Amino acid sequence: MIPFNKPFLTGKEAHYMYQAVYTGKLSGNGVFTKKCQLFFEEHYAFKKALMATSCTDALEMAAILCDIKPGDEVIVPSYTFVSSALAFVRQGARIVFADSCSDNPNIDADKIEALITERTKVIVPVHYAGVACDMDKVMEVAEKYNLLVVEDAAQAIDSFYKGRPLGSIGHLAAFSFHETKNIISGEGGLLVINDERFIRRAEIIWEKGTNRSEFFRGEVNKYGWVDTGSSFLPSETVSAFLYAQLENLDMIQDRRKAIWEQYYEGLKHLEDKGFVHLPNLPEYATNNAHMFYLVCRSLEERTTLIKYLKDNGVLSVFHYLSLHLSGYYKANYTEIPHLPFCDRFADCLLRLPMFYELKDEEIKIVVDLIDEFYKSRG
Ligand SMILES: *Cc1c(COP(=O)(O)O)cnc(C)c1O
Repeated sequence: MIPFNKPFLTGKEAHYMYQAVYTGKLSGNGVFTKKCQLFFEEHYAFKKALMATSCTDALEMAAILCDIKPGDEVIVPSYTFVSSALAFVRQGARIVFADSCSDNPNIDADKIEALITERTKVIVPVHYAGVACDMDKVMEVAEKYNLLVVEDAAQAIDSFYKGRPLGSIGHLAAFSFHETKNIISGEGGLLVINDERFIRRAEIIWEKGTNRSEFFRGEVNKYGWVDTGSSFLPSETVSAFLYAQLENLDMIQDRRKAIWEQYYEGLKHLEDKGFVHLPNLPEYATNNAHMFYLVCRSLEERTTLIKYLKDNGVLSVFHYLSLHLSGYYKANYTEIPHLPFCDRFADCLLRLPMFYELKDEEIKIVVDLIDEFYKSRG
């Protein structure tokens, strides 16, 4: 069986975790947490990076920092993971779902302005598959209406928009190191703060509503409860694991991109014949090879192709049921929007096996099977 995903270990993870354990400081905000944060701040020019227990938690921190109050509206693409919306719902936000582009699952930036009301507070662009949203347009409309922008960059490590690192453009951004992402720590995330106004409060929210970070830096002589927050900081062992991955970021990215290219070259002729659509990279975006997907012509065709691949030893998966059609949304909202492009990706998008250790021969097996499938279908 060719699996869909296989977490990659560089070999140094356990060594660094051992170090973290035996230096005697196991809780958060120690040496490895700081090493990871510094890595992100130096590599991607993030103003401030805070390790988090997950991307979901980083998004929850962002929702608190945006000061979401019950009834505030947040614009989110419907074609995304639940957390992009849920983190704001927990603060009482009303979610306003936006459609995808016709040729790319990202939020259609041209449709955002029509969704803005007096209660809109935040826009959440999700860089699907690590491909940048049209951030100039998103930032322009946000500025015009005085809104905050939180990038859901869960999939977007080491990817760029017009040369700018994703995660460095919005006021805030969140990354994921879940084991299905390019760079992993099992569960794990990062909050990025680009707007300096939020830095002090972010550290407090991170440390259970206390000003402990300031105390450790010697800026205050005692610390106490000053704000809301939670235990958003991960233990040192998580950051130790992540640091081993970060040291090998370029190697991991190079291999993933080579896999992606091999899929693309192998399947291009099926796109030329009109059988499938392959990922469409806007000229302003780079590819970080987070995933390789194709878009089938119908739900029925996708279901049949998944079964055909599985019967032949290849696990492919689909994901994201439209959030605007979810049970939760229908139970809590009276008006259900019509978002046809989102629904099309929900029905027709298929993800192929993509992981560092995927071999060239295995990619060829997958490509040949898809080829065979479409030969028999015509
Ligand atoms: C993976 C993912 C998340 C959630 O990340 P966790 O670290 O598992 O909380 C959120 N948004 C998107 C777009 C994701 O792909």
